[in-house]
Amino acid sequence: MLFSYRCDGCSRHIRGVCAHCKQVMLQHDLPSVPGVLAAVRYENTARQLVHGLKFHNHRGIAALFGEVMVERLRSDLEMPNVVTWAPTSKQRAHKRGHDQAELIARAVSLQLGVPCRQLLRRTSSTSQTGQSRSTRLVGPTFVARACANVGRVLLIDDVVTTGSTLGRAATALREAGAIHVTCAAFAATPAPSERR
Ligand SMILES: [Zn+2]
Repeated sequence: MLFSYRCDGCSRHIRGVCAHCKQVMLQHDLPSVPGVLAAVRYENTARQLVHGLKFHNHRGIAALFGEVMVERLRSDLEMPNVVTWAPTSKQRAHKRGHDQAELIARAVSLQLGVPCRQLLRRTSSTSQTGQSRSTRLVGPTFVARACANVGRVLLIDDVVTTGSTLGRAATALREAGAIHVTCAAFAATPAPSERR
């Protein structure tokens, strides 16, 4: 196959993600989600790329997400001691062969030069995809391993909508002794007022 590589954002014949798609993702200001730092809006190219990572296992995308997050969020981010992630349900991770939040967390940790550790376990098996907003607000719950010695934690997820999942994960970390938890997501679903 001569042209077997395609951009994950727009299907141009380029390996990885093309410069145009990168630029499109970065054209807006940072989305505003209370309590969560998010790098880009979850629409168009960003949505394509998250889809590529989630469902097609294109892991190179996670490295790009890590770069974009650190570049866009660095000025708002206090340097953490450890990076972790809000785990997806075991069934989903098993089916896909990976946990996309973990892949992004590992990419961010590499960019920051800070260790990445699994600190959270998901206790409910409900996955959010395809569920109503009200179900999502109940959402998954988490337990954290003892965090008394971990210091400042940067908690990562791929996409944030209401911030409730990350909020619950952050609470579990604090209850386990984390001194300070910053929540960050690659993309945020735009609020209705921001949608065009
Ligand atoms: Zn492209």
